[in-house]
Amino acid sequence: MSNYKLGTTCVQGGYTPGNGEPRQVPIIQSTTFKYDTSEDMGKLFDLEATGYFYTRLQNPTNDYVAAKIAELEGGTAAMLTSSGQSANFFALFNICQCGDHIVASSSIYGGTFNLISVTMAKMGITTTFVSPDASEEELSAAFQPNTKAMFGETIANPALTVLDIEKFAKVAHAHGVPLIVDNTFPTPINCRPFEWGADIVTHATTKYMDGHGAAVGGAIVDSGKFDWAAHADKFPGLCTPDESYHGITYVEKFGLAGAFITKCTAQLMRDFGAIQSPQNAFLLNLGLESLHVRMPKHVENGQAVAEFLNSHPKVAYVNYSGLPGDKYYELAQKYLPKGGCGVVSFGLKGGRDAASTFMKHLKLGAIETHVADARTCCLNPATSTHRQLTDEQLRDAGVPAELIRISLGIEDKEDLIADIAQALDAI
Ligand SMILES: *Cc1c(COP(=O)(O)O)cnc(C)c1O
Repeated sequence: MSNYKLGTTCVQGGYTPGNGEPRQVPIIQSTTFKYDTSEDMGKLFDLEATGYFYTRLQNPTNDYVAAKIAELEGGTAAMLTSSGQSANFFALFNICQCGDHIVASSSIYGGTFNLISVTMAKMGITTTFVSPDASEEELSAAFQPNTKAMFGETIANPALTVLDIEKFAKVAHAHGVPLIVDNTFPTPINCRPFEWGADIVTHATTKYMDGHGAAVGGAIVDSGKFDWAAHADKFPGLCTPDESYHGITYVEKFGLAGAFITKCTAQLMRDFGAIQSPQNAFLLNLGLESLHVRMPKHVENGQAVAEFLNSHPKVAYVNYSGLPGDKYYELAQKYLPKGGCGVVSFGLKGGRDAASTFMKHLKLGAIETHVADARTCCLNPATSTHRQLTDEQLRDAGVPAELIRISLGIEDKEDLIADIAQALDAI
């Protein structure tokens, strides 16, 4: 499939039925798989043969959908996980253990920030956070001898900063570690981080990939380009025998193309079991079939609403990297020439009260913590998710009281703008 363009891959990638087989990806709703002899099954356990034995490790439905995502990102291997959270945890924990260190952009999703700064810290894995705008020298200074990975988001949720992927990749590689990029917001339709030097890509498929607010899920994709063996001392888990898996050395047995995902499946999925259900993978695949049609519409609506808000007298500021003058406009022109995503954030001049009135009057934009849905949704953290904080605390947390995040769906932009306009009039 790899010679096809993105749209064709969205529709037909990953799964090619044989003669008389189902046209749509079949949902293999089975925990386990049957074998004629113990020896046949033994070969699977030894990773001597490929095949299925238990859905906690692998399931055909999930593998078809993961293969499509690998093709879309231009990677060599991919796996699905139960959520975006587990995708980021697995991607990091596959190469980090107690005593190791991560360098991460400070502008990342709150759930990921908690995961690495609190929960992974309890496992003995520490993180130094760096500004996504830091110079190469400043980024370099954050590295330690025990650093095993660098992490960032292509477009950060919710700050909407754009990652300079080439700069981050250059610094990561100079220190002999891979760059892991969470590519949830642009999706491979608008940016393919591997083309800019990223080594591993993660996704909350919950967002645009599913796109219909139907199924929580995640994915990890390997570019196959990072040379683990050249830094074998840093990555013993990939480069020395795994005693918990029949003494296999992943890099030797599966090569650079397969080592990372095979280890992640054979060890982490085996032990943590954060699988995506085949039913959810089927729903995710339906979303992927129209991803290339939906993303341009999300971008069109995001751009139109950002421009409308930017010229409105009651609006103090707008963050959207497609707006000339935005702090990330130039980076977006480079990394996101087709546009970024449909999420816009803006501040109202009237502060918390104005935000509360605006939210009450929105009709099409539903109040939700979700983003990246076909339906427009909207959040004012100060009056909902962060309502226990004072205005000053909100400012310190980077979510000032007047800040509203709106995720534009794929409705008609004239209706969305009219809805926003009447809600602004109510202030
Ligand atoms: C939502 C999100 C996540 C977490 O995904 P879940 O599926 O909710 O666990 C991770 N990264 C980004 C950028 C997200 O937007």
